[in-house]
Amino acid sequence: MIGRLFGSLSQKVPSLLYRVSLVMKPQVVFVLGGPGAGKGTQCSKIVESYGYTHLSAGDLLREERAREGSEFGQLIANYIKEGKIVPVEITINLLRKAMEAMMKENENKFRFLIDGFPRNEDNLQGWNRVMDGKADVKFVLFFDCSNEVCINRCLERGKSSGRTDDNRESLEKRIQTYLQSTRPIIELYEKQGKVRTIDASRSVDEVFADVKAILDKEG
Ligand code: ADP
Ligand code: AMP
Repeated sequence: MIGRLFGSLSQKVPSLLYRVSLVMKPQVVFVLGGPGAGKGTQCSKIVESYGYTHLSAGDLLREERAREGSEFGQLIANYIKEGKIVPVEITINLLRKAMEAMMKENENKFRFLIDGFPRNEDNLQGWNRVMDGKADVKFVLFFDCSNEVCINRCLERGKSSGRTDDNRESLEKRIQTYLQSTRPIIELYEKQGKVRTIDASRSVDEVFADVKAILDKEG
């Protein structure tokens, strides 16, 4: 009898653990800052040292743009070139699918750095509509640096990135979009005490030292 009980328990425990891990909510850190502030660079370094998965909204959109048969390819291409913010339904769907795929593959990978999101009010409302109660936003990492530094870094990156928007004309539009649409979102989170601001104009290692201090403190 006891043997049988243990037998059935040992079969049930793994599936129970599996179910518990499935209900583990994604823990999210939003990563924001101007174009070229160094979000991608710092996220790669965070991934090396901490158990986070890096999801860049821009990278996901560029992948979708390049995916054969994508119904949104041309629309995304136009928005990116113009430095405009792609409709939230597309972006949020890509983010949600990427998070689900990662957590399905590895139940311990529930920490996400979401880079370049939410970039405007539409993004924020979309997130609240689709993800409210389904993910916890821990805080916002804000990489702060001047427009001039941002533009120069992107122009430098443009020499080899092959990106359609790392040129002066697109960059002027991207900076305007950042100032008009993204800064108000950062201010909104600021009022909630959720923003961790980092001076991103310094060297990669100096910036990362601050990032580490924040992540170590936040746990
Ligand atoms: P973002 O993801 O914010 O657009 P990236 O991480 O792609 O920015 O960085 C933009 C460019 O600036 C890249 O070419 C990168 O190598 C460079 N870069 C990133 N951080 C720094 C830094 N702290 N100092 C100098 N150059 C940097
Ligand atoms: P990035 O790779 O972060 O520099 O983003 C490049 C471009 O992708 C932006 O200028 C937008 O056109 C688009 N994009 C990136 N993130 C978002 C987002 N959260 N919502 C809509 N469009 C985005």
